[in-house]
Amino acid sequence: MRNTLRKVFGFHEFRPNQESVVRSLLEKRDVLAVMPTGGGKSLCYQLPALLLPGTCMVISPLIALMKDQVDGARANGIRAAFLNSSQNPDERDEVMRQLLSGSLDLLYVAPERFILSHFRETLSRVPLSMAVIDEAHCISEWGHDFRPDYLSLSDLVTLFPGTPVAAFTATATPRVQQEILDKLALRNPFIVRASFDRPNLLYDVRFKEHVDAQLVSLLNSNPGKAAIIYRTSRKSVNDTTAMLQAKGFRALPYHAGLSDLERKKNQEAFIRDQAEIIVATIAFGMGIDKSNIRLVIHADLPKSIENYYQETGRAGRDGEPASCTLLFSQGDIPKMRFFIDAMTDETERDRALAALSRVSAFAATSVCRRRTLLNYFGEQYPHDNCNACDICLGTREVVDATLEAQMVLSAIVRTEERFGATHIVDILTGSRNKKILDFGHDRLKTYGVGKGHDKKYWRRLIDELLAQKVIEKSEGLYPTLFLLPKASRVLRREEPFDIVRTLEKKATLPLPKSDNLPYDNKLFELLRTQRKQIADEQQIPPYVVFSDRTLHDMAANLPRTAEAMLTVSGVGEVKLQRYGRQFLRLIDRYCDDQA
Ligand code: ADP
Ligand code: ZN
Repeated sequence: MRNTLRKVFGFHEFRPNQESVVRSLLEKRDVLAVMPTGGGKSLCYQLPALLLPGTCMVISPLIALMKDQVDGARANGIRAAFLNSSQNPDERDEVMRQLLSGSLDLLYVAPERFILSHFRETLSRVPLSMAVIDEAHCISEWGHDFRPDYLSLSDLVTLFPGTPVAAFTATATPRVQQEILDKLALRNPFIVRASFDRPNLLYDVRFKEHVDAQLVSLLNSNPGKAAIIYRTSRKSVNDTTAMLQAKGFRALPYHAGLSDLERKKNQEAFIRDQAEIIVATIAFGMGIDKSNIRLVIHADLPKSIENYYQETGRAGRDGEPASCTLLFSQGDIPKMRFFIDAMTDETERDRALAALSRVSAFAATSVCRRRTLLNYFGEQYPHDNCNACDICLGTREVVDATLEAQMVLSAIVRTEERFGATHIVDILTGSRNKKILDFGHDRLKTYGVGKGHDKKYWRRLIDELLAQKVIEKSEGLYPTLFLLPKASRVLRREEPFDIVRTLEKKATLPLPKSDNLPYDNKLFELLRTQRKQIADEQQIPPYVVFSDRTLHDMAANLPRTAEAMLTVSGVGEVKLQRYGRQFLRLIDRYCDDQA
């Protein structure tokens, strides 16, 4: 087992839970593994597939992904192929021939193929080492990606009684997990539920002010790095893409309004490192296996915590540090409410509202982001300080704003809860506009008491009061502010009102530490160029040639011989043979130049 790990995959250690899953499969036991993105699920079945006789059938819902998965396996010398509707009959016949002659270690198929009786008939004639179900949560009607085709997978255990079945997923609440077990009827399965913590990700939530400038500055501090920028609407995707292109960034759009062809082209360019930045709606991401995404930026509030976790989860699959930034403004909430209110299905609407309120609370509060995310999945984060979120890195300061809150509350009370935020701010700052004078609000006791701060300050404070549920905004075209029970406690000083302030100084947060040795950045860039050239020649994504982690390792250890190259993480025997010489030559030349 360890020998194969080293020789084929070029890895020297298992990631958490990989070894126990591999062992179970080698003992022909069924498995359910819930592991986060980047946890290394593919290796869990690819390795036993090499050691067990017969072909491992992998059922995977995403046709777009199959080719990359197969390319990835083949790059390590694994005999892999896929069968799906994107192929012509000749190509499919060729794969069938390989399957029947026993020359495939891995066969990826879409679930709709598994339903076909002639395909099942063929399967009954070949020895199967195991059946793997990728994205197993698609079988659950409770999950968010339910696929009716997946229900047919419950036939697996009866069709192949002696073959182990292994189900993998990166998203499963306990309820979904139980449904997977029940529907597949797994037999005394070995179950692993890994931690959902992604220690290599930095979570950073910032006040959204000037989105364009904030995006440019984030991208500028990460030159050349692969980034996904999520936006909610097609229009904002187009606008942001145009803005970035005008500033010279290689950015491409992705949303459901583009043609299939254009979407495919843009996705491909991103995966192949031809464009660093993809600006996208949530239509983008399912089936993105690209392991070297270094930045995920949410320029708008995500729909739910689950969405946020999944979307940010696409960063740093290779285990190298990556950052996730959410630009948040209370001003985004009414827009999202507008869409939710338009939903006709009442249950859907309630669910969406509850999700929105949780995700906005996540963004607005001052609790460790990692702790909140893990809590959401029912996991207790064991440390006080995660050292990799904006809260724990202390870039925020908690300020007691009870006095200021009282000013706002008393202005609302004195005007009988009949006015909106703008007017309240005008009262506090002592504006002399017509509305103030008409209502005689310049004679109020609170008139002008807030002159010490500007209007923006007061608007933010009102946002905070809304977020912390001290006040509420009425529905309708001219929303007015009114008090909630908590307000009277703040007014009576029974409860303090704190706000969290971002300190300007720490504009960029340090990324989580990687367990890599420090590496030579110039060499890394040269290695990256070499990788891209090979990938383009072979028409495969660069990360399939070598991961960022592998290139970092080379740039740190400077291997000069084939043996030394084999000690680099991610360099197995086949990759050494295929690419070793080119990379060794480059490192040689670089080291000689430096000498
Ligand atoms: P998942 O499918 O769980 O999201 P992948 O199977 O795509 O994860 O693996 C994520 C990355 O981790 C890949 O780049 C893979 O090569 C790498 N990886 C997997 N197992 C190991 C290991 N034992 N040591 C180092 N890297 C690993
Ligand atoms: Zn934290």
